[in-house]
Amino acid sequence: MSAQIRPDLSAIPAYTPGRSYPGAVKLASNETTLPPLPAAAKAIGAAAELAHRYPDNQATELRAALADFLDVTVEQVAVGCGSVALLQELVQITCSSAQDEVLFAWRSFEAYPIVAQVGHATAVQVPLTSEHVHDLDALAAAVTPRTKLVFVCNPNNPTGTAVGQDALVRFLDAVPSDVLIVLDEAYFEYLRLAGTGQCPDGVELGRGRPNVIVLRTFSKAYGLAGLRVGYAVGDPEVITALMKVHIPFSVNRVAQAAAIASLEARGELLERTDALIVERERVRAAMRGAGYEVPPSETNFIWLPLGGRSAAFAEASAEAGVLVRPYTADGVRVTIGDPHENDTFLRFATDPEVAARFS
Ligand SMILES: *Cc1c(COP(=O)(O)O)cnc(C)c1O
Repeated sequence: MSAQIRPDLSAIPAYTPGRSYPGAVKLASNETTLPPLPAAAKAIGAAAELAHRYPDNQATELRAALADFLDVTVEQVAVGCGSVALLQELVQITCSSAQDEVLFAWRSFEAYPIVAQVGHATAVQVPLTSEHVHDLDALAAAVTPRTKLVFVCNPNNPTGTAVGQDALVRFLDAVPSDVLIVLDEAYFEYLRLAGTGQCPDGVELGRGRPNVIVLRTFSKAYGLAGLRVGYAVGDPEVITALMKVHIPFSVNRVAQAAAIASLEARGELLERTDALIVERERVRAAMRGAGYEVPPSETNFIWLPLGGRSAAFAEASAEAGVLVRPYTADGVRVTIGDPHENDTFLRFATDPEVAARFS
């Protein structure tokens, strides 16, 4: 007899590793290219020497450091094994059956439909605008009495676009106060909305709005993707519920130590984001110059809305030595890497034959 696995899980694709291209440049996962700062590496080494001891399950020191940095209380901060774990936990604390709806824009972060389904909830998707931006009016209009959770990815993965402060405030005010709104700010550190004065900060917007919870991560600008640590900031009642469903000890000792050290050294880390943004604008300009449509990006990647040609583009790019991330029928996401990596990508993509085929 075989085990009685939940039949609905067959709708979730099993993980299939991609073809490997040894030696290829990897611009597929929005990682930073630089290794941890010396202070973080030192903290990692010291924590590893205590690997025989369980980590602090409450992550007291890290949560206190985050609370101090964000000017909130420790009771308003939860940490998770990457912010994806917190996404899953947010579904767990709000949804209990398929009657319950999790609302989000599409296309957006690929984990949203999966965590909704794993959490027995129903995913409801609202298309992005033709400019690849969140349609906040349509999203607000899609809230029903069944809606328990709304994910707003700002800036949005994989399109790179962001909504500004005024639009976001209008949205927060339009959604009933008993619906939990998650502002997923994984790329917050890259958000500039240059010249608009419209740069939204979810933590600030959440003050006085107990139904707003903000997710951020150490995986992107802070460069600790391999250690898995993210955090949630919000109302103490929501944070308490998150801690009830938290998998015990899932934020490990090394991750906690590295996150604290990285937070202390954030000046140095955040300087790197300025250099990355210069590269991003250079790559975007070169791609547009070659004839591609490239929406403005507020992240560490660009989006190429290539529709049905996405898979073929990614395949051709891999053969040219650069791995990028295709999203069937929608587009291709290209992470901004080191200048020489970006040059390798641009040599491929702006080649007149390639550009003629795909732009
Ligand atoms: C990368 C990413 C995350 C989280 O990553 P973790 O490594 O799990 O912290 C969350 N949301 C979005 C939109 C992302 O792109």
